[in-house]
Formats: sequence, C-alpha cells, structure tokens
Amino acid sequence: MLPWTTYEAMADAALNQPEAFWLEAAQRITWQQAPTIACQHRADGWYDWFAGGVLNTSYNAIDRHVEQGRGAQAAFIWHSCASKEQQVVTYKELQDRVARFAGGLRALGVGKGDRVLIAMPTLVETAIAMLACARLGAVHVVVFAGYAAAELARRIDDVAPKVIIIASCSFQGQTPLPAMPILNDALRIAAYKPKACVIAQREACPAPLMPVRDHDFYSLEQSSPVAPVPVYAEDPLYILHTSGTTGKPKGIVRENGGHAVALALSMPLIYGCKPGDVFFTTSDFGWVVGHSYGVYAPLLSGCTSVIVEGSVSASAMRMLCQNYAVKCLFTTPTQLRVIRQESRNLAGVLLPALARIFVAGEYAEPTLLEWARSYFQRAVVNHWWQTETGWSITAHFFGLPEQEPKALMNDIGRPAPGFSPALLSSMPDDRCGEVVLRLPLPPGCLAGIWQNGTTKVPENYFDKSGEYYRTFDEGMITSDRAVHMLGRSDDVIKVAGRRISGVQIEEIILSHPAVYACAVVAISDALRGQRPAAYVVATAQCTANMSVMRSEIIGQVNQAIGKWVGLKDLHFVAQLPTTRSGKILRKKISL
Ligand code: AMP
Repeated sequence: MLPWTTYEAMADAALNQPEAFWLEAAQRITWQQAPTIACQHRADGWYDWFAGGVLNTSYNAIDRHVEQGRGAQAAFIWHSCASKEQQVVTYKELQDRVARFAGGLRALGVGKGDRVLIAMPTLVETAIAMLACARLGAVHVVVFAGYAAAELARRIDDVAPKVIIIASCSFQGQTPLPAMPILNDALRIAAYKPKACVIAQREACPAPLMPVRDHDFYSLEQSSPVAPVPVYAEDPLYILHTSGTTGKPKGIVRENGGHAVALALSMPLIYGCKPGDVFFTTSDFGWVVGHSYGVYAPLLSGCTSVIVEGSVSASAMRMLCQNYAVKCLFTTPTQLRVIRQESRNLAGVLLPALARIFVAGEYAEPTLLEWARSYFQRAVVNHWWQTETGWSITAHFFGLPEQEPKALMNDIGRPAPGFSPALLSSMPDDRCGEVVLRLPLPPGCLAGIWQNGTTKVPENYFDKSGEYYRTFDEGMITSDRAVHMLGRSDDVIKVAGRRISGVQIEEIILSHPAVYACAVVAISDALRGQRPAAYVVATAQCTANMSVMRSEIIGQVNQAIGKWVGLKDLHFVAQLPTTRSGKILRKKISL
C-alpha cells in the first residue's frame, strides 16, 4: 500500500522531506545493514544514496522471493521472435542457475568490483549472467549484441572486463548472425585482453570454442552454487554505455542501493504493479529499459517478467499477453507503429488481464497513442526517460487512487518523486528551454561516468551554477507541473528509441579518404521515429563515382556501428552551412 492519495501529496513529500521519504521507500528492500542516511553529499560534490547500507541486489531480486514462498512462480517467460523458442524459468530455478553460474564466474577469477562484459541478445542466459555478477558484487556491462566489432572493442577497452560472455549467435529478423567472428575481430582491435570468454551455444549457430580462452556457458552453470556477496549501497551494480554529444560512448555507472530502492518504488507507484503480477517489456537487454524493467524492477518486486528476443509482431504480442495474463506492457513508440501497421486489417483485441501500456524512449505522436488506446481498449501513456536516470523522469502514476488528469494523457506526464525540473532558457521570460533537473537527482540515477577504472563526476552534465543536471532535452513546464517535450538540444539521434550521436557517425564518414567535410542530422522516419541523414562534401581532388562512394561510406558506417543505425540518406553537397567561426550549423540543415 502506498501512503499517498494524490500526486501533489506524493511529489511534495519527496521534495520537502526527502530523507524521510526515501528511508521509508528503502524499506521495500531487504538490507543486511539498513541505511540510516538517505542522501549524502560526497567530497567530490556529487551525491551518494543510502551510503553505508549493505545489501545484495541478486538476493533481493531472487532469493528473498523463494524464501517467501514464490519459488514455483515464473520469474522469466522468454520468447524468441526469431527462432520461436520459449522458456519459462521459476524463481527457484533461477536461484539455482544464477548461484551456480556465479560459482562458475568465481572459478574464472571474477570477484567484487571486477567488470564482466555481456554482449548477448535478450535471453534468459543474459539475465542469469547479469544476476550472477550482481550476486558476486561484480559489475556487469551489457553491450547490445547488434554492435559491430569496432564498437564492441571500444567498450572492452573502456571497462577492461575480466570475462566476456556472448551467445554463439543473435538474429537479424529470422537470420542467425554468428557472434564469434565479431568477438574475435573485437579482441584483435581492442588493446585490452580479457582473462576468459564464455559462450552460450545456440542451436541455430553453434560456435567452435577456442581452447584455453573459451568456456561453455552451460558447463559453468554446473559449478557449485555461491551465496550472495554483501556490498555497500554505493558499490556499482553495472555500467551501461550510451551516446552523448561527443563521438565517444559514455559508461553510465549505476549503484546497487539507490537503484534497488527507486525501481522497487516505481513498480507500485508508476506501473500499479504488485508481487505476482506479470510485466512485459519489449526492450532489448542492451538498453536501459531492458535492464530496469526487463530484469531488475519486476524481479525486485516479485513479479513475473516477460522478455522477448527481436521485434515483436502484433500476433506474438497478443499471444504473449493472452497466454501469460500480462498486466503491464512496456514498449516503444516504434514497436507500437509496427503493430499498427500489421494490424490494419485486424479487429481490436480484448486482453482481459492487460491493465495498461507504457511507452518511452522517443516522441510518441498523440495519434499513435490514441490508435493504441482504441486497439487495446486500455490506458496507453508515454513517459520520459534517459539511460542516465535509469527510471522515468516524468510519468503517470497508476498506483495513486487519484485518477491521472485526462489533459496529461497525451504527453510525458509529471515528475517522478525526487525529480525537480526547471527551464534553462536564453531569455528570462521564455516559455521553452532546456529542461534541467535540480541536484541531487533521486536514487537510481547515474552515480557518475566510468573513466580509467574509476567513477568520475560527470561535469559536462551540470549547468554553469552547478545546481542542475542538464538533460539536453528542450521542453516546457506548465503550472500543473507537467513537462512537455520539444526535442533534443544536442546532436543525439534516436533511431527506434536507440541513441546514437551524429558526431560519432560523422567521425566514421570523415575517415573515408575522399570526404572533405560532413554533417549528420536526424530526419523523421515513419516507423522508427528518426534516422540519420548525412550531407557530405567530397575533397576537391575526388574523382570517384558518387554512387560507388555513397555505398562505400554507408558500408563503412554499418561496419563500424552496426546495420541498425539505418543510414541510407547520403547527399553530396558543394558546401555545408557554417558559423563565422567555422562551426557546422546542423540545425540549419535539419530545418
Ligand atoms: P536513452 O538514454 O537512450 O533512453 O535516450 C534518452 C533520450 O530519449 C531523452 O533525452 C529524450 O531525448 C528521448 N526520450 C526518452 N523518452 C522520451 C519520451 N517519452 N518522449 C520523447 N523523447 C524521449
């Protein structure tokens, strides 16, 4: 039961009495040593949540539910949209598999604080690997399985993992993509060499293991089980890379304590879910929503998590919701657009157990939300997220008895507890500007950026006064506290909800010998929200055939980042618009 009856009461309690609010929320977690302080200002100017509290995230996600009698309940229901395989894993089975796999990792030398890089699609084995790291106090670094070798290599060098875990293949549509060549190439490119690699063999594409270096995932799962290792609340749970304004991906560091508390509160408050409910997240584990709502939040709350590999068809979505009595569906606007396209000639569906649908990650046009409401006959809402925050900055609150105001239903909602947005505008009476968040951010948000083996305070995220965290999202705030989103203020492009920096694509294009200058901007895409478009100036000496050069450049981008980035618009131009100081005016191009 939540203690608030209205949004105002809840939000004010979090803003006016943060210590009491968050220490109360912390009681949703089982601590080995309960925290006595909620938020603490660190010597480096940043903040720690629940410092001194001792817990284990994997114990909270699995063992305590088994102890409380949920052993026979499904923890994960997995469906592959590519191979059509399915797997149901109960909490008891999960406990056994995670504890044994953690034993296997320990035998490979993994201990507290060590990084383990997991480059796998959304599989039960991926979740087992993540939770086994959490059990050992090790730090998992999940990398999207669709990345090309160069991107994988950058992440290997950034975090220096003791062990790398992959599946023998992922899928692009229905086609298996062998992962071993990508791993081998990445290890050739990377300066850092891990101690061992672990391969989960898949029937579609078994891989030959390299003696000494490689170990079989399922053999490691036969190791002796290990008990959860106690860690401090401020110890890191994971690192997740994301794109920012520069070409270099940043490793967002998430701590154990604040993460567990924030997610455990969000399940009843935002999603209206209680233990035993079924929560379905379509996000890949390689993205933040997959971490937070595919794995951790449902498990921390004793729910069943439905997870999928690949893009879900309208019929698979119906089947999964129907067969497993899904209560909450969390997906993306892109996925809703796919379902809208596929279900054009189908009648609406009635899924009795489904209570509500949430989308996040990109702009959702009101017509899309309205279509989804009439198709599913349920509430459908959008909420605002960032990899950095780990949970929603603004949301709609289905756990409160007070109904969400109708006028807010087509937008991203009001601040989640502890988020205090303000506008950073160029003119004092501007109604629009960059939305910034007053520090400290609530628990669960980034604890810093991973750099050279340590967590660094993310300076470029702060405004000049040092009082606010910068979101780089432009918007408006109205008197009812609702935030309205207008777009990004930097060069980040969202392709099907995945973040990629335009600068990163430009760097790859500029490495082509016949390119003199280029600018990459976001253009709108009917299905995937946005996609990149490149404007390229060839060198004066260039005599290449333009269509050959176009495919060389596109091939180069696909090779370096992965095909998912979807670059197909590449225009050769005589020059790019620049400022007097020579800076490219990307905004001018996108208009
Ligand atoms: P990511 O870190 O990949 O989750 O991307 C975060 C960015 O995605 C935000 O800064 C926004 O630009 C965009 N974004 C996330 N959620 C929404 C939303 N509900 N509506 C519009 N844009 C969103």
